[in-house]
Amino acid sequence: MSGSRVLVLAGTTEARLLAGRLVGSGSDVVVSLAGRTTSTEVLAGEVRSGGFGGASGLARFVRERGITAVVCATHPFAALMPFNAADACARTGTPLLRLLRPAWTAVAGDRWIPVDDLEHAARALEVLGARRVLLTTGRQELGPFARLGHVEFTIRSIEPPDISAFTHASVLLERGPFTLESERQLLVDRSIDAVVSKNSGGTATAAKLDAARETATTVVMVERPAGPRVHTVESVDDAVRWLTTSP
Ligand code: NAP
Repeated sequence: MSGSRVLVLAGTTEARLLAGRLVGSGSDVVVSLAGRTTSTEVLAGEVRSGGFGGASGLARFVRERGITAVVCATHPFAALMPFNAADACARTGTPLLRLLRPAWTAVAGDRWIPVDDLEHAARALEVLGARRVLLTTGRQELGPFARLGHVEFTIRSIEPPDISAFTHASVLLERGPFTLESERQLLVDRSIDAVVSKNSGGTATAAKLDAARETATTVVMVERPAGPRVHTVESVDDAVRWLTTSP
């Protein structure tokens, strides 16, 4: 990888691990964060923060900084950046890889209701007649849930959400990883009858699914948004291999 400069579009554990591996092996790495949360994690490489200004801004950055490969390791629910990366890399002729961790799949005993988006998740809660709900989908796009005035929400997020439109909501400001014990305790202590989750995959926030299975709690599972058709791998190892072997 001599003479290479890799741009890692970050915001995930995998992005952090990949940057660490690449820097550790002597590669020139630029890590890009959207800058939405106050990160407590140390990132290897040159770190920049904030949007590029769409696909054209990203293409400009790639050209100006002499980027030779881009790895889009944004969150599975980052709906725009993977398309911007595909567009920018097509315009500049830059090799692009998407690093996307596998989705969770239901196992025996799970009570999952798969839905397409947060609006459908709110409707599923209405149909279920859920009364006490743990909402773990992040602090943005809470609007569809606010209209459910009869539901007591526990909203867990990293940064404080705006709950002014909710009738009953309490906030847990926490960042994973979470343990099975603490997740079980949370569901039991608050008599939670439904959990709403994005199908983010990974291990950091998976314990809520085990706890829900154990306590026979329904999980309304929001499926991932569609992504661009680009070469995709599921692990940091495979991303390193691609960067090492691609021309
Ligand atoms: P998004 O819809 O794909 O991106 C929206 C805009 O944010 C992009 O158009 C881009 O702005 C900027 N952006 C996103 N990722 C960026 C990055 N790595 N570096 C620089 N700019 C970036 O993504 P999102 O859902 O708003 O998420 C924002 C960030 O939070 C992502 O990095 C994602 O990995 C992380 N995250 C998202 C979720 C989620 O559930 N959506 C969960 C955990 C973490 P410009 O067009 O101006 O370049």
